Amino acid sequence: MLAHDSDLELFRDNFRRFMLDNIEPYYAAWEKAGIMPREVWNQLGENGYLCVDMPEQYGGYGVPTNYSLMLVEEAARAGYGALSTAISVHSEITAPYILHIGTEAQKLQWIPKLVSGEAVGAIGMTEPGAGSDLQAIRSSAILNGDHYVLNGSKTFISNGQHADLVILAAKTDPAARAKGVSLLLVDTHLEGFKKGTNLEKIGMHSQDTSELFYDNVKVPADQLLGAAGQGFAYLMQNLPRERLGIAVTALGAIFGCIDVTVKYVNDRQAFGQAIGKFQNTRFTLAQAKIDALATEAFVRQSIEQYMESKLDVPTAAAVKAYASDVQCKIADNLLQLFGGYGYMTEYPISRFYVDARIQRIYGGTNEIMKEVVARELLGR
Ligand SMILES: Cc1cc2nc3c(=O)[nH]c(=O)nc-3n(C[C@H](O)[C@H](O)[C@H](O)COP(=O)(O)OP(=O)(O)OC[C@H]3O[C@@H](n4cnc5c(N)ncnc54)[C@H](O)[C@@H]3O)c2cc1C
Repeated sequence: MLAHDSDLELFRDNFRRFMLDNIEPYYAAWEKAGIMPREVWNQLGENGYLCVDMPEQYGGYGVPTNYSLMLVEEAARAGYGALSTAISVHSEITAPYILHIGTEAQKLQWIPKLVSGEAVGAIGMTEPGAGSDLQAIRSSAILNGDHYVLNGSKTFISNGQHADLVILAAKTDPAARAKGVSLLLVDTHLEGFKKGTNLEKIGMHSQDTSELFYDNVKVPADQLLGAAGQGFAYLMQNLPRERLGIAVTALGAIFGCIDVTVKYVNDRQAFGQAIGKFQNTRFTLAQAKIDALATEAFVRQSIEQYMESKLDVPTAAAVKAYASDVQCKIADNLLQLFGGYGYMTEYPISRFYVDARIQRIYGGTNEIMKEVVARELLGR
């Protein structure tokens, strides 16, 4: 088992090298294609980069969660926002749900496959009529003997095209509101389960985001995750990890924006000097660094709190909102320093800019994050 910080740094170096060899040469083409190949998941798994904090009895390394989050951070820092999110959904959301709530049989059935990349994980909450207001979900799962009959649809599901397993929220008691919601482990290869088109987005192009449809799908009753009707309670327990993952992606991207901008402003000349010599450039970059350091302190503290089981729901909401707001501000301010070249997809800052925007929306919008924080301050 890896344990010391030097091990983490070694692991980080290895992952950077892996990305240089296996991601960098192809990433631009995947962005154009609007999806990365399915085999990338197998490659990530074979090289030991998926779900690394899962216990060894389920195939993981059993290392602390900061090892897992480092991979999300490094992918974002390298400018692969889509890859960072894909890994985050798989390793930071799907696997932990199963580990925390699943039965022993469910853990043995699914976690080793998520670790190896044999199965790609996704989380299916959002529906066309239910985004921020998740209580409004209409998907239903009605128990009928030894299986649930699943009907309905989801939208905006990350990893949705490649997913083999979706943790899906559905009403096992459609008459009830929140108390009727349960979570199911749904194998996407079951009869009646269909993936819609790969949705076209303004950024994170190679991240497959999909609609999902299910029509009388028979989900074995033993694939109920946790207790029936407890879906919202489980969401509350697991959202801090999801939101922490988003904050970590933001942190990586913030440093990535600074990396590419520092290089550019030292090279680009205007009025007979490098644009890095203009006070505006220097102050903009200095402010970005100051904001990056403040974000880093908050994010690292939140990671430590998570690892000590002390990251509460309002703090996780706060760090998600803060880090993603800073990310968007920095991507915008630093793109400006590239002039027209910043608007060209050939320049990585443009990808940092478009990839940043969704971070304030998914995982709960930043307005909802503020509601969560305000609720703690003021009550309902
Ligand atoms: C690229 C992408 C990937 C995604 N991945 C996933 C995924 O993997 N799984 C998944 O389940 N979902 C996913 N989502 C869905 C995402 O979580 C939702 O889009 C998000 O929660 C917002 O829901 P909505 O789009 O329905 O917006 P709405 O809920 O319709 O919100 C619209 C606006 O109203 C505001 N608003 C709503 N309620 C309130 C309120 N009470 N107070 C103040 N303002 C409010 C919102 O902040 C927002 O500004 C993804 C979305 C995208 C675009």
